[in-house]
Amino acid sequence: MFDKFHEECAVVAIHGHPDAANLAYLSLYAMQHRGQESAGLAVAGGKEVICHKAMGHVADIFTPESLGRLHGDHAIGHTRYSTAGDSAQLNAQPFLVKCNKGRIAIAHNGNITNAAELRDDLERGGAIFQATSDTEVVLHLMAHSRERTVAGALREALLQLEGAYSIVLLAEDRIIVARDPHGFRPLAMGQMELSGGRSAYVFASETCAFDLIGAVYLNDVEPGEMVIAGPEGVTRERFSPRRNSAHCVFEHVYFARPDSLVFGQPVQPAREKMGRFLARRHPVEADVVVPVPDSGVTAAIGYADESGLPFRQALIRNHYVGRTFIEPSQAIRDFGVKLKLNAVRHVLEGKRVVLVDDSIVRGTTSRKIVRMVRHAGAREVHLRISCPPTMSPCFYGVDTPTKSELIAANHTLDEIRRFVEADSLAYLSLHDLREAVDDNERHDYCYACYTGDYPTDLVHIDEMLSSRKRP
Ligand code: AMP
Repeated sequence: MFDKFHEECAVVAIHGHPDAANLAYLSLYAMQHRGQESAGLAVAGGKEVICHKAMGHVADIFTPESLGRLHGDHAIGHTRYSTAGDSAQLNAQPFLVKCNKGRIAIAHNGNITNAAELRDDLERGGAIFQATSDTEVVLHLMAHSRERTVAGALREALLQLEGAYSIVLLAEDRIIVARDPHGFRPLAMGQMELSGGRSAYVFASETCAFDLIGAVYLNDVEPGEMVIAGPEGVTRERFSPRRNSAHCVFEHVYFARPDSLVFGQPVQPAREKMGRFLARRHPVEADVVVPVPDSGVTAAIGYADESGLPFRQALIRNHYVGRTFIEPSQAIRDFGVKLKLNAVRHVLEGKRVVLVDDSIVRGTTSRKIVRMVRHAGAREVHLRISCPPTMSPCFYGVDTPTKSELIAANHTLDEIRRFVEADSLAYLSLHDLREAVDDNERHDYCYACYTGDYPTDLVHIDEMLSSRKRP
């Protein structure tokens, strides 16, 4: 089936650095949290474009030998989020093709909401698709373009797309990056000084990649902007008028690393504020604040600071869990969560616990964690969630399930509390979330997963809602 919905990813592009492949590799390493299913790099050195990609983690895919073969001054890279169904290697990015515009490799983060319609049209016109990811649609649109240059063809293709995309493209002698006119997904631009007064330019989903490779953050690629870095230098142009900004607020809530800037804003203070607001609005008599690692840690620090309660790591995460082939026996209940997390009885025993996590989606994981905390001796468990109730699916690149599976879409607060077996439950309000990301005046963010108010016209929304699937 056409994979319309699962494109939580990271992208990177490096221009004009003799060590481009290694820098792109390290950038992917820094952004591994954005996608663990597959990763790939494509490198160009003037004539050839070479690509290496595979299923798995960045550290396992690239060896000194495979990196050693990726010669060139320009590189792009991608990591893809883990999904069940359509997780075939065919969908690993970048996609590399040889077409009438030369050799082109492309990768993107986000969800092109009209990809299915575009694909149908292209197939009716004779196009043959190899994968189910919507990134391939962009390549076909480019190949069909009558524009002579790669940038011209990409511009023409982008104007036909709807939805969310941060795209990195590599041609034989240049890279081009672009961001959709609403700016749903992040894309930062940075610079590295080279000897002789020259500069290399780098682009990445999150600035934690820049920190690792020693690049300086300059600014964001603007919504509706295309940046072309080639032999003639770097040019920035608007391919589309900017529309209402709709930066994904879930980047700040959950997805991005706290040490990153996304949409030009540091994540850590925004997340801490979410925790502070939660403590202010939903205080509770308790002994200790405990985060669900890693996603709840920063908000829990904010909660603890504001409430004056001690912060303790009482759920310990095993960071080395990959895929396991051991079938848990019936006797080992909640195996998946136990593999990842274990409770510290010594901290929890007899305590009234404020448990902080970033979100409840279906409620099943949250229930297992609440049970685990109680099983380790907690006397009370008060669950605090650092975003509003998740009510509506995302069509712009975050992996949320259908409305029928979203617990908050179908249940009252008290029903959810009973389901997750917490003594009390409170969410952050939309107003406070907006305040935490400094958006109450600006209106730059998308909150559709909390409000159902989608910032773009979605074609065939009913069909999209019913065909929505989740691993
Ligand atoms: P559940 O209670 O089963 O809905 O699971 C909630 C947990 O899933 C929370 O700990 C979140 O951090 C995590 N979570 C929420 N959204 C996502 C997402 N899009 N991808 C991966 N994990 C997520």
